[in-house]
Amino acid sequence: MQKLNALVTGASRGIGACIAKTLAQDGYHVLLNYCSNEAKAKLIQQEIQNEGGSAELCGFDVSEPSQVNEKFEWIGKTYGGLSVLVNNAGITLDSLLLRLKDEDLDKALSINLKGAIYCTRAGAKLMLKAKQASGTERSIIHISSVIAETGNAGQAVYAATKSGLIGFSKSIARELASRQIRVNVVTPGYIQTDMTEVLTDTQKEAILHQIPLGFFGTPDDVANLVSFLASPKSKYLTGQVISVNGGMYM
Ligand code: NAP
Repeated sequence: MQKLNALVTGASRGIGACIAKTLAQDGYHVLLNYCSNEAKAKLIQQEIQNEGGSAELCGFDVSEPSQVNEKFEWIGKTYGGLSVLVNNAGITLDSLLLRLKDEDLDKALSINLKGAIYCTRAGAKLMLKAKQASGTERSIIHISSVIAETGNAGQAVYAATKSGLIGFSKSIARELASRQIRVNVVTPGYIQTDMTEVLTDTQKEAILHQIPLGFFGTPDDVANLVSFLASPKSKYLTGQVISVNGGMYM
């Protein structure tokens, strides 16, 4: 029997790479999306294959609808459908509102929000077409952020893109529920990756004080939740926002 497939955007590094490895361990054939870091994506593919899993590269820029549509058409032709889509690709372009540059606003919206919308539109089409016996394996998961829930000075645009994902997700959860496609959002807190490595020790210390559990999260903490949301174990969950943040926001 052909393996179920899962596409993870931004799977070359950090949280996305860890999600991809976890879904491969769960038995999915994983399509590893990346934008510029093909070499790093290849290393993740190699790691998955070395552990006996199955993965292939699927490079495209999520903010370019023509590239997105082309790749999803290819996925449809090659696999006949898609079981799991994880919209993880994202960037931070922090700026105080009064210093915000138009190009940074456009870039953050295009990658974090529009990118997820382009991929979901194309992915849902494939999920609807696929004649799978059980709907429980069709799941769309968005990686938002605790910042969508709390707000953060200097991250207004990031927060707007990440809370935009929540409204989008709840709406399409309603649109797709009758077809047994589930849509959920994960809101990670502070997770140790390249994205957070740029913070100064003083900034990290200040964040640590806001985390009741007293330590930073790792990509595994997010990946384990995604694994659950992708699986039939969560078959009665849709339209939900689930936090993984050490208690930073309750
Ligand atoms: P990261 O280490 O900076 O990795 C970002 C990933 O996104 C990379 O794989 C990158 O691909 C990809 N990407 C960026 N622009 C892209 C584009 N236009 N098209 C396709 N892929 C693109 O980030 P991370 O910390 O793992 O974060 C992953 C997600 O979790 C993001 O959405 C982030 O907002 C969210 N999040 C992170 C934290 C945290 O504390 N780390 C907390 C809350 C939410 P390339 O390598 O090819 O550039």
